[in-house]
Amino acid sequence: MLKGIAASEGIGIGKVVTVSQQQITYEQRPVIGVHKELDRLHDAIDTLKEKTRQLAEEMEASVNPKEAKIIRAHETMLSDPFMISQMDDLVKNDNKCAEAAAETVLDMFASMFSMAEDELTRQRATDVNDIKSRLLKILLGIEETDLRHLPAGTVLVVNDLTPSMTAGLNKENVVAIVTESGGMTSHSAILARALEIPAVLSVQQAVATLKDGSFVIVDGINGQVINDPTMDQQAEYEAKRAAYFEEKERLRAFVGKPTLTADGEKKEVFCNIGNPKDGIQARDRDGEGVGLYRTEFLFMDRSSMPGEDEQYEGYKKVCDTLEGKTVIIRTLDVGGDKEIPYMNLVKEENPFLGYRAIRYCLKNKDSYRLQLRAMIRANADTTGNLWIMLPMITTISEFKEAKAMVAELAEELGMPMPRVGTMIETPAAFIMAPVLAKYCDFFSIGTNDLTQYIMAADRGNSNVAYLYNTYDPAVLHALEAIIKAGKEAGIPVGMCGEAAADPMLIPLLISYGLDEFSVAPTSVLKTRYEISRWSKAEADAIAADVAALETAEEVSAYLAERVKR
Ligand code: PEP
Ligand code: MG
Repeated sequence: MLKGIAASEGIGIGKVVTVSQQQITYEQRPVIGVHKELDRLHDAIDTLKEKTRQLAEEMEASVNPKEAKIIRAHETMLSDPFMISQMDDLVKNDNKCAEAAAETVLDMFASMFSMAEDELTRQRATDVNDIKSRLLKILLGIEETDLRHLPAGTVLVVNDLTPSMTAGLNKENVVAIVTESGGMTSHSAILARALEIPAVLSVQQAVATLKDGSFVIVDGINGQVINDPTMDQQAEYEAKRAAYFEEKERLRAFVGKPTLTADGEKKEVFCNIGNPKDGIQARDRDGEGVGLYRTEFLFMDRSSMPGEDEQYEGYKKVCDTLEGKTVIIRTLDVGGDKEIPYMNLVKEENPFLGYRAIRYCLKNKDSYRLQLRAMIRANADTTGNLWIMLPMITTISEFKEAKAMVAELAEELGMPMPRVGTMIETPAAFIMAPVLAKYCDFFSIGTNDLTQYIMAADRGNSNVAYLYNTYDPAVLHALEAIIKAGKEAGIPVGMCGEAAADPMLIPLLISYGLDEFSVAPTSVLKTRYEISRWSKAEADAIAADVAALETAEEVSAYLAERVKR
């Protein structure tokens, strides 16, 4: 089995067609007539522009205008006067032929993009290289590889799938794509997802290993390619593929719809994200907001703390992407299992019970102020729907102290005070929830930590994994009490721990009165569907049965039976 990046969901079963991408070579010729050479160059650019325009139009008609923008961007680049004048200069002043002028300038652009800090801009180098090779082919009279007429049931195996190749694919005939390079955010991956063709990218040695005509299974859900599968594997994956389509069809009905229980009670499905660009996923996957933006990722994998402006840009970007929907941003949750080397936190015997999250932030107020100011500014400069969430609150004083800091900074900045709420993820916060609710604008239950603290079982320790169980009646009792406390105080209660996406727990959470379920972007539609299955009366009946059970095993067995479709 070969492994790679699961870049476009689905399962494709078919025969390999490899497309080799030969190196484009040409001889550097001295330019005899400058005008003639410039004409050659401009004619080639015009031809490519026209081809690209047609491709974009085809995509707009057949796929999605949003994704066709990627190809439209190629067209725009080909009209860039700066780029064209650079090429012209090389022909006029350096006596370079059209091919060499185009290659030199486009290589320069590609290397500029590839040095960019953020991954998305780095990926743009692929687009420039795509334009370069297509332009050189036109100049040299080399036929473009036409992928429109591949045989039905093709699994396309290529070294690097360029955006223009992907856009030109006939999705009726191509059942899957396997490449040796590219990642989740590459334009080819985005286009493959838009075309709904399963794709596994960055599979090492794919072209050498997968032979033309051989039979393969491409699992775009788990990032696997099975070469020459056995009969059993084939049957297994055919069943998986059928189940995948069935589920997809079912979930399609929930796209763009409000989240409602079976008896019409309104709920919300939000998304958990880890960095600003995940906001795009949250929006595209139909999230109704962001329920948890874990800001610690902005602080990781670097050598110093991000400044106020950098943080502001990141927070604002998510708010802009979500276009006015609620965005709940959690202040730094450092410590525990989340290490940030430059913060020089000393190793502790018991990191999960130690100096972490709000405890660290309230002792390092200068850097905490930077983060809070960035959030207040991002809230003021967008549609004002950024809510600030505090992690690991244990005492009322911690919450009050942090909220007072927000109020003071908002006043100093002359900007509106964002809503401030708390994660409920410690037993103390759960017990004090009715009091905390007096000061909080909202609650969000962090079941990942709450479970470990209630059960006194480290969430990462496999020896005690049997205790770490959200179905335990002790944890369920806490969830019910927290939601009740929030509801009685009239504040919204959400959940951003993994349990929010667990179909077995959803009827219980409906019965307890949870308002908002924050889940991974890929789980939005599934969660919306699961919520739609239960009326309050049915959910209450399930919760009443569960309340009479005494162990996690009993709860889990009961729910598995009662909740299954
Ligand atoms: C939680 O504890 O449930 C939570 C959402 O936070 P994290 O997983 O980041 O600790
Ligand atoms: Mg937590």
